Amino acid sequence: MSDVVLIAGAGPVGLVMAAELRRFGVPVRVVEKEIESPAQSRALFLWTRTLELLARGGATEALIAAGEKLTATNIFSGKKLIGHVDFNDIDSEYPYALLLPQARTEEILEANLAKLGVTVERGVELTAFSSDVHGVTATLTHPDGKAEAVRAAYLIGCDGGGSFVRQGLGLTSATAPHQSAWYLADVELQGGGFSRSELNSFWHEDGFLALFPIPGGKFRVIANAGKAKDFTPGTPPLEKIQAIIDARGPGGVTAANPAWLYAFRVEEYNIASYRAGRVFLAGDAAHVHNPIGAQGLNMGIHDACNLAWKLALAYRGAPNAEVLLDSYTIERQAVAERVVANLGRAAHAATVRNPTLQFARNLLGNIYFGLAPARRQVAETMSEVSFSYDHSPINGVEDHALPAPGPGQRVALKPGQKPFGLGPVPQFALLAEPGAKVEKLRHEFPGLLEAELRPALSPRCIWLVRPDGYVAAVALREDIYLIEDYLYTYVPKAEDLAAF
Ligand SMILES: Cc1cc2nc3c(=O)[nH]c(=O)nc-3n(C[C@H](O)[C@H](O)[C@H](O)COP(=O)(O)OP(=O)(O)OC[C@H]3O[C@@H](n4cnc5c(N)ncnc54)[C@H](O)[C@@H]3O)c2cc1C
Repeated sequence: MSDVVLIAGAGPVGLVMAAELRRFGVPVRVVEKEIESPAQSRALFLWTRTLELLARGGATEALIAAGEKLTATNIFSGKKLIGHVDFNDIDSEYPYALLLPQARTEEILEANLAKLGVTVERGVELTAFSSDVHGVTATLTHPDGKAEAVRAAYLIGCDGGGSFVRQGLGLTSATAPHQSAWYLADVELQGGGFSRSELNSFWHEDGFLALFPIPGGKFRVIANAGKAKDFTPGTPPLEKIQAIIDARGPGGVTAANPAWLYAFRVEEYNIASYRAGRVFLAGDAAHVHNPIGAQGLNMGIHDACNLAWKLALAYRGAPNAEVLLDSYTIERQAVAERVVANLGRAAHAATVRNPTLQFARNLLGNIYFGLAPARRQVAETMSEVSFSYDHSPINGVEDHALPAPGPGQRVALKPGQKPFGLGPVPQFALLAEPGAKVEKLRHEFPGLLEAELRPALSPRCIWLVRPDGYVAAVALREDIYLIEDYLYTYVPKAEDLAAF
């Protein structure tokens, strides 16, 4: 059996998938059908949780050096400020969104992958595949038209919205796909006095409007077409963008010198299963969201960080590998569903038409955003730090009497603490006070448990944390056998590791 994992597509998700697998010692091939990467800025936001996850593979520092920080968001109805949410309250080393054009993000991710010894094979297209219980047989078509037959242990379709892999598997959306139409413009904005470190969104009965800074001095304008009957995909005239800003914005704002004008449709979906045997889907191949929350690229990177450690453990002969691999769909599909629901609610609130309902919405919005816990909740949702895997089949025993965070929840790091899941194998971490029983556990699982204990979050409990920073299991110190059981269930034994 070939031991290579074949990754189709070198967008941001394919690049992170390859880097995560490679740093965990799994051989990969990454094929990308395009010779050149697209130059357009497309996704601009890298949220807090994404920066945390990418820090594990060493990419975050270079991304931060290249990007600009967005530290707050404002919600307006016309000129009236409904709410101001500061991202500084997010419990993370990265309490902001990083603004960076997608083309630059991809450049940095590809350079990071090259440091791990992996070169993207450009101009090479996956043109056929079939799978069996032992692996995947695929055809790769090279730029000169030559077809290469390959055998791989697994295939991961990171091949975007039109995913060839998804179509080949015949997988469809769990919910009815929903189409929406959008205008985008990267322009200079005169008037309005907008801060270069804040996102401004405007609620309006015609549709949603957002204005935010992009590196290089311009602003991005993004607006849904709403009920407009004259929507045509392609390059809209600047006058169309100006008319939307005039109608939905605060007034007195002029757009000029466009760098990119784009009118596009989005087909929103969430595929029912992200796995079919030895073939997986990740990123836009698995789910596409409307652009209101700027979550698409971020969600795809989280998919990669969720699947890679599980696949690396399965690769090393983890017991119950099938349960581990199935948990990928269960965990990530539920998060994608939540994002769809959140964005749907946001869109609904933004576009209420009835004046009485608008008045009530603005009043309630004022009250809601006046509350610190509410503001914090919004910031934690936007930055994706509050997403958790509450109903995952690989969560340890749930005991609500124990202190948080519980199984499936993210563990927030204190500034300066090293990220979870660093290093050349997917290591779990133990958060516990020292003691004989804990030491014994660390000796039983050499290599896949961090060598050092991390500080306990409460002296009476032990936390086992997954390589992606979510709690695997938590138990009272006297119930350490629960942690031990967890490790025996999912972590390969020392002899399997040595054999790899
Ligand atoms: C205008 C616009 C604005 C956006 N703004 C935001 C935003 O602000 N925030 C955000 O988070 N997201 C945003 N998105 C979404 C974001 O761009 C996508 O979610 C992201 O690119 C998905 O990454 P991916 O790697 O899954 O897919 P893609 O980036 O689509 O990459 C897939 C790759 O696979 C390759 N490929 C396809 N088929 C094959 C094959 N058979 N063989 C080999 N290679 C293949 C393709 O050439 C492509 O390079 C925006 C998208 C658009 C279009």
